[in-house]
Amino acid sequence: MPRETILSADDSAPAGDPLAEGDIDPTTPAPQGEEKKEEDVALRPKHMREMVGQEDVAERLRIAVDAANKRSEPLGHILLDGPPGLGKTTFATCIPRDMGVPLQIASGATLAAPKDLLPYLTNAEHGSVLFIDEIHRLPKTVEEFMYPAMEDFRIDITLGEGVNARTVNMRLQPFTLIGATTRTGLLSAPLRDRFQIREHLDFYSQTELIEIVRRNAKKLSTMIDDDAAHQIARASRGTPRIANNRLRWVRDYATSRADGDMTGDVARRALDMLGVDHLGLDPQDRKYLSTILRVFHGGPVGVEAIAHTLNIACDTLTDEVEPFLLRSELVIRSPRGRKLTTKGYEHLGETPPNELG
Ligand code: ADP
Repeated sequence: MPRETILSADDSAPAGDPLAEGDIDPTTPAPQGEEKKEEDVALRPKHMREMVGQEDVAERLRIAVDAANKRSEPLGHILLDGPPGLGKTTFATCIPRDMGVPLQIASGATLAAPKDLLPYLTNAEHGSVLFIDEIHRLPKTVEEFMYPAMEDFRIDITLGEGVNARTVNMRLQPFTLIGATTRTGLLSAPLRDRFQIREHLDFYSQTELIEIVRRNAKKLSTMIDDDAAHQIARASRGTPRIANNRLRWVRDYATSRADGDMTGDVARRALDMLGVDHLGLDPQDRKYLSTILRVFHGGPVGVEAIAHTLNIACDTLTDEVEPFLLRSELVIRSPRGRKLTTKGYEHLGETPPNELG
């Protein structure tokens, strides 16, 4: 049976903050690389009004929440997609807290069979939220089991086997499913269509990241100057989770190698040690670009070939590495594969071939 977490959204609950440490399903595998979800918890906004950026998405969600509250109806199912670290889990945890309803958290990766989902569905209270992270990883059988649960708040349970098998229909309390995925493309159309609200989270601007860094430095009770906040924001690949990780690293560096204050000079030295360049790319990003350049002559090349050469899982490249490089226009995806752009060549200090120039 999966580990389940039922949370009271009552902020005054004596057990402490309903979304404190440990509320993320511990069976959820942490994302690869340096970004670990557990470490984000302390800095995660508790309410939507505390979130920075994604204004359009937040506004639409606020309207949906408000309307559901006014009609005393459960909120429609919500699908959030976008690269890791942009705030999908944060939205999914803020919404129930703002609505004052309980939240359960599960991960698509650990729901191997319908029986794994059963406790979540039967525990769901009227109007409560079930958050399924990495929903694209649900096996087909679990996905199909979800359809009637999402649409009619009922499930069909098969009892017995073979000729003795019979199906029992069970009613559920109306609940809201919030699904998060880095890959909407992998979701089957029937599942995707059952979400009334679908929102895409995009990378954050420099100004938004500076604001996040400033607020979080305050939460960590550390002094940060403007220069340091700018540098950390620029080194964050448009991603709040990375901004938090860089912030923590600069803070550690400031404590160990300086007087504890995060000044521009301290931030510069700390980030230099991580090998983050002026576009915010880390060594793995540059290795990806230089592999396309050196091994595949600038492309086009299939992502699998790059993944094999780098000895990195293909999913890590497509989910975590490529989105920011595509967004930064350093590389493009053509029907024949990935290709460096003029900017990509120039970033590596190379002259682009004539056909690109
Ligand atoms: P995802 O679920 O998309 O991988 P998370 O919601 O876990 O990303 O976000 C990672 C961390 O980034 C959070 O713990 C939080 O500290 C920070 N974060 C994300 N979105 C925002 C935001 N809009 N404002 C402030 N901090 C944010």
